[in-house]
Amino acid sequence: MEQITTFGASGYAIGSLHLFDGITDPVVATLLAPCAVVRILHGQTVSHPHNSEACVYAVLRGALGNTLIDETQGIRTEKILPGESVGELSVLDDAAHSNTLIALQETDLLVIESSTLWRLIDEADGVARNLLRQLSFRLRAANAKLRRREKVGEFYRQLSMVDGLTNLNNRAWLNDKLSVLIEEAHRTNQAFSLIMIDLDYFKQFNDQHGHLAGDNALRTAAGVLSAALRPSDFAVRYGGEELIVILPDSNDVAGTMVAQRLCERMRLAVVFDDMRIPLPHITASFGVASLVPLQDADGLLASADAALYRAKEAGRNQVAV
Ligand code: GH3
Ligand code: MG
Ligand code: MG
Repeated sequence: MEQITTFGASGYAIGSLHLFDGITDPVVATLLAPCAVVRILHGQTVSHPHNSEACVYAVLRGALGNTLIDETQGIRTEKILPGESVGELSVLDDAAHSNTLIALQETDLLVIESSTLWRLIDEADGVARNLLRQLSFRLRAANAKLRRREKVGEFYRQLSMVDGLTNLNNRAWLNDKLSVLIEEAHRTNQAFSLIMIDLDYFKQFNDQHGHLAGDNALRTAAGVLSAALRPSDFAVRYGGEELIVILPDSNDVAGTMVAQRLCERMRLAVVFDDMRIPLPHITASFGVASLVPLQDADGLLASADAALYRAKEAGRNQVAV
């Protein structure tokens, strides 16, 4: 990059730079007059005349690209347009520029050395205020970006906890949440029930009507659960054609009642194939277990599984406790 003149002789107006917006103090013109104005050709990088020492570059004409390396988005380029400047932070914390600045077109820059910026801050009214305002804008933008990123992260986390076929919570969700819910029930001395559900003769259903019809049956079964539960209950796809219902604050009597209701609605639910033709009804077997003192998640799951086994043994399409 080549120095073409000094700011005093350049003909550029001080007020065109945001850093000096609304500033009338003549000290500013005096301090800026000897500063170098450099011209950078399209595609060239900005290199400090005295190397390594921090300074501010203010764009008088053209545009700079500031290449930033971002751990999540990779390399991206931020545009710095006429009136804007870059490098204030490196002057304030006395560290050299770590970013690469490239001229996106032929560009004229005012180079404000570190010592000059400090004198402007100390001696000229308003420069410190403008600088603070600019830095707070950048801080706000950076915070907004962080919040957006957090939201995106949360969105994907939620997505990874949901089963794609049925839209129910998935097993990862269960692994995450069941022990927390159980600890809470123990701590608050509240009842807690869990129903383990397995569709009956589902292999046969698949064999007779095809896997897609089987998928529809699974969605229907999930819909029966979602429609019947209170907002404080949870429905989970545990695996294959096994589903779980979690009933916080419900004892064995309430849990059995819910299971009976679900069993009935399951056998009445209509499964359609792709041509919207009704298929044979599906049924399911239900095992109910209620939390006992000191029991953990695995213990409760095992106990519901044992009850489910009894419901299957007794002929399916029924509830066992
Ligand atoms: P039981 O009454 O003893 O539970 O008999 P079953 O046939 O339901 O039991 P089994 O465990 O032998 O078969 C489960 C079947 O569920 C086999 C498998 O193909 C089917 N299945 C599991 N996940 C899915 C799925 O996502 N979609 C479809 N269509 N079928 C599934
Ligand atoms: Mg099964
Ligand atoms: Mg089954």
